[in-house]
Amino acid sequence: MTALLEVDGLSATYGQAPVLHGLDFTVGESEIVVLLGANGAGKTTTLRALSQLESVTVGGKIRLRGRSLVGLSPQTVVRRGVSHVPQGRGTFGDLTVEENLLAGAYVRRDRQGVRSDIARWFDTFPRLAERREQRAGTLSGGEQQMLAIARASMSRPALLLLDEPSLGLAPLIIRGLFDLLGGLNRDHGTTMLIVEQNANLALSIANRGYVMEAGTIAVSGDADQLRTDDAVRRAYLGF
Ligand code: ATP
Repeated sequence: MTALLEVDGLSATYGQAPVLHGLDFTVGESEIVVLLGANGAGKTTTLRALSQLESVTVGGKIRLRGRSLVGLSPQTVVRRGVSHVPQGRGTFGDLTVEENLLAGAYVRRDRQGVRSDIARWFDTFPRLAERREQRAGTLSGGEQQMLAIARASMSRPALLLLDEPSLGLAPLIIRGLFDLLGGLNRDHGTTMLIVEQNANLALSIANRGYVMEAGTIAVSGDADQLRTDDAVRRAYLGF
């Protein structure tokens, strides 16, 4: 497997407070990898460190296709091909659905390609198509989450980072969302690193997983192995 993302000895601090203590992990080309673990284990911080978001001070190595991301601006990280869907909806509430999708494509110059990607997303989500002129802030939670994922995908990222995509959504919608993410990966080879509380469901579409505990990686393995290992399930996954 060719590694798309290689992380070696990743540490992160907020101000003086160390939160990540030397993480090593990889995400392969076209893989879905999930980051699991209890609240406060450091999953969100890991994604923020990868995106070089300002409040986090990062140590260690982060390489995307062999090139370091450490010290770049968040905008440059996006240009290098990393797109981040933050916790709690990554949409602009005052912009329309269509404007959100165009905003997601701001790093691209191929206007035809952008138009055809928007058409493809409207095919995938007819509800978004119906609401293309509506402001994103007026959509339901599930619709906003789908828009956030579509918006993040509009930059044609090499790597999509998703922070708790299921948060606050009804179970039926969550199932549909994970089916969609699985489809995006199958049909377009989109590589994803997903932080998720809903361990069983996330593992059902993933290739591999890492379980975090107190800023370290406690367990790693193939998704099926993590799902069926009783000790891992009892100790870390709660199902
Ligand atoms: P959750 O599922 O609750 O988001 P998590 O595994 O994503 O959990 P993080 O949000 O990464 O965990 O938090 C890890 C630790 O960092 C926690 O102890 C948290 O209190 C601390 N932390 C998070 N954000 C900040 C911040 N902006 N400033 C200081 N400490 C923070």
